[in-house]
Amino acid sequence: MRKKLFLAGEWVETEQYQNLYSPYSEEEIAQIPLASKADVDTALGAAVKVKKELKKMPAYKRAEILENVVKLIEENRELCARTIVQEAAKPIQAARGEIARTIMTYKFASEEARRLSNEYINMDAAPGGENRVAYAVREPAGVVAAITPFNFPMNLVAHKLGPAIAAGNPVVLKPASQTPLSAFLIADFFEKAGLPKGALSVITGKGSVIGEALVSDDRTNVITFTGSPEVGIHLKNKAGLKKVTLELGSNSAVIIDDGVDVDELVERLVTGAFAYQGQVCISLQRIFVHEKKKAELIEKMKTATNDLVKGDPLDEATDVSALITPSDKDRVLSWVDEAEKDGAQLITGGNVHQNIVEPTILANVPTHVKVSCEEVFGPIVTINSFQTWEEAIELVNDSDFGLQAGVYTNDLKKAFYASEELEVGGVMINDIPTFRVDHMPYGGVKKSGTGREGIKYAIEEMTELKLVSFKK
Ligand code: NAP
Repeated sequence: MRKKLFLAGEWVETEQYQNLYSPYSEEEIAQIPLASKADVDTALGAAVKVKKELKKMPAYKRAEILENVVKLIEENRELCARTIVQEAAKPIQAARGEIARTIMTYKFASEEARRLSNEYINMDAAPGGENRVAYAVREPAGVVAAITPFNFPMNLVAHKLGPAIAAGNPVVLKPASQTPLSAFLIADFFEKAGLPKGALSVITGKGSVIGEALVSDDRTNVITFTGSPEVGIHLKNKAGLKKVTLELGSNSAVIIDDGVDVDELVERLVTGAFAYQGQVCISLQRIFVHEKKKAELIEKMKTATNDLVKGDPLDEATDVSALITPSDKDRVLSWVDEAEKDGAQLITGGNVHQNIVEPTILANVPTHVKVSCEEVFGPIVTINSFQTWEEAIELVNDSDFGLQAGVYTNDLKKAFYASEELEVGGVMINDIPTFRVDHMPYGGVKKSGTGREGIKYAIEEMTELKLVSFKK
């Protein structure tokens, strides 16, 4: 099926198309328009034209548009989930979970549209400030360029479009080349929801061509990017004075203290490590367990991991399916090989069935190998032990990344110590680092990025504070 671009409020054809294949069956599923730099120009031109109208649109109207989008997703839940399965090979149960979260994300956006956090300023707190009434209002920052990854094609797009529209900004969305269908679906919903023409364009094509053009253009005011650190850092270097939010990768870790009941957390750890084949930015990649619990944890994790069902993402029973590309499969397997050669012990997995990499556990993994120090973005988890709590914290912090960390302990002192010492954007006490709900502040430090999402916080990134002072 040949798709069209959603450009400046119209569905248009392009000169060039690219075939889109299912990562699991490798069958062609659609032909995707390849936007040109001229299309980027049209999208930005339309966004600039509608900027004033959006800025003047009352909050309740912006909220209503977002509520209408919520209704449309609710009415089309299964279609949305199956679209994700088709283009991303996300197992159907996980895809339905993503749609449930997407609905929450747009609901939060519609609520936040109604309560933008304007502020009254007590000017008389400083000598010379007497006899004034002053307030700071959040104004839309302008045209938002949103660039998104393949792994949550509905919900991560929602984390860009939701706050942008809530704040009154037009958006040009460039979705990942592997997951354009979800983006076209949501554009259709926004059109039906009553969004003015030009307030959203969805342009598909090579990130290195149209993504670059979007980011370099002077008409773009805000860049909000979710994806790999390499691309994110490159874009930030090109952005000049534009506002930039970067949500990048990680090699997230969990610490498990010796007083913890391993039986209570095994299932959760397995979910954190292998949900969507480990292709989650906060996927659990490194487990650090107290040495007294190590043998028990490895045995129980192995049993639970071997129970995972590998197969067709459309099959209701499937837990783990194909990685996004064959080259990712080869890369992940070569990283497992490297770890084994350097002394890691393979507990389970390490093979490929048809095109599915088996969920893999490695123990006693040296810190210098790639499965430890780089982002795997595949179904691999490492288990290493520690003796002291301080050592455990140091092991987690020995990383270029810092998105979220998990800490299991029954000792309040240790929990507070970890929350203060861990170099990450979020600490989950008694949970996996993979935990996220969509209104919490979310984002990383170090190579995991800059800025925060979670609707209220993303709105702050997409608005400018304007001070108004009245002298009485
Ligand atoms: P990616 O390769 O960096 O791609 C992300 C987006 O950037 C895609 O739309 C891509 O377009 C575009 N792009 C590529 N090169 C570009 C360039 N030179 N200029 C502008 N845009 C460009 O990432 P991915 O493989 O889709 O996603 C996986 C990564 O995302 C992982 O590192 C993961 O941790 C991270 N992630 C982070 C979060 C978070 O919230 N922190 C959430 C999810 C994922 P094309 O597809 O056309 O190349």
